[in-house]
Amino acid sequence: MRHVVVVGAGIVGLATAARLVRQGERVTVLEKEAGPARHQTGRNSGVIHSGLYYAPGSLKARMAAAGQRSMTVFARERGVDVQITGKLVVATTAEQVPQLHRLADRAAANGVSATLVGPQAARDHEPHARCVEALWVETTGIVDYPGVCRALAADVEAGGGEVRYGTAVTAGHEGPGSVRVVTSGEEIAADLVVACAGLHADRVARAFGVTPSARIVPFRGEYFELSPAASALVNGLIYPVPDPRFPFLGVHLTKALHGGVHAGPNAVFATAREGYRWRDVSVRDLADSLSWPGLWRLAARNAGPGLREMVRSLSRRAFAASLAELVPGIGPDDLVPAPSGVRAQALERSGTLADDFLVQRTARQVHVLNAPSPAATAALEIAEHIVGLLATA
Ligand SMILES: Cc1cc2nc3c(=O)[nH]c(=O)nc-3n(C[C@H](O)[C@H](O)[C@H](O)COP(=O)(O)OP(=O)(O)OC[C@H]3O[C@@H](n4cnc5c(N)ncnc54)[C@H](O)[C@@H]3O)c2cc1C
Repeated sequence: MRHVVVVGAGIVGLATAARLVRQGERVTVLEKEAGPARHQTGRNSGVIHSGLYYAPGSLKARMAAAGQRSMTVFARERGVDVQITGKLVVATTAEQVPQLHRLADRAAANGVSATLVGPQAARDHEPHARCVEALWVETTGIVDYPGVCRALAADVEAGGGEVRYGTAVTAGHEGPGSVRVVTSGEEIAADLVVACAGLHADRVARAFGVTPSARIVPFRGEYFELSPAASALVNGLIYPVPDPRFPFLGVHLTKALHGGVHAGPNAVFATAREGYRWRDVSVRDLADSLSWPGLWRLAARNAGPGLREMVRSLSRRAFAASLAELVPGIGPDDLVPAPSGVRAQALERSGTLADDFLVQRTARQVHVLNAPSPAATAALEIAEHIVGLLATA
């Protein structure tokens, strides 16, 4: 039996740990926070994606489609709240229609069931949405991701593994026969290490002697809840046609599991990796981002959209106007601020956003270096992939 240390009790770390326990490994999960899912996993849209957006053949495309199924089955089996609601992607202008058709082609290439519909049929799903044409995606759903994490942590412990909260990992040293893992309080000897540190993935990798090609740059996603009157205008999930130059999907409307509707997230550069509000500033994080040439190259290429996101963050009126493009009638007074999340986005030195999931390995370590959306949906598949890599370690 090998001893595997997993860094991070987000959904990717816990899914990997639970999978390893199932095949008989001894597993210790080390998490710096007091509980699971305190960062990206507990601060996201809660959507089970269907896999329609991603480049055919990419890890994202394959793992999102498979993850849609495995995550739904897992949640149902474990009594975690889940609903397959379907979602409507709406083209609100004639200019957006070609891109909507490209999305429909991509869905077909990825084996995702999605149907182009006219305004009349769209109204059957979402009577109040505006569109000239829409794509109805059957398999999209919503799930309680923190609930999934609690179930995975329970599986780890039931299988003899350990999840240690309040334990920050500060360094690691790989030798020929083991990896020494240094935490805030002690040193642990492991045969193998899997690091799933989300917003700190690149730093943890460097602290273990691994040099990632990309740096994590944090992008905050801000949310509002809709007033009860505005919530009544939304049945399920309503998304805009995404801008293909951007990795983010655009502000959307998402039904919550227990009533109400979430609106968002936008995408603004965050001044701290765990910067959930404008006033959260970390000098270290900011210096790390600003000293990375990739950020300046990205900013130069996306000055317009970046500025628009900033305006939408600072003006509730602008945020409401984006939502009103999807569902007319939503106004600034319908928006109640809700907790935000921060995306860990790996950015290459060239200014290119790492598009696919990114994993780097050494003889005894696997580091997950880019696991943005749809990594929550795909977590059980990512875990399978990581365990496959460890099989040859
Ligand atoms: C705003 C937003 C909306 C999103 N919407 C969706 C969605 O609807 N559907 C979807 O599929 N995906 C969505 N995503 C993406 C999804 O949330 C992430 O891809 C996923 O949660 C990544 O999980 P993770 O375990 O890699 O990271 P995290 O959940 O961030 O977990 C990493 C963990 O590592 C711990 N850690 C870090 N450093 C250390 C250290 N040194 N020592 C010990 N512990 C450490 C952290 O405390 C944290 O608990 C969204 C993300 C955001 C931010």
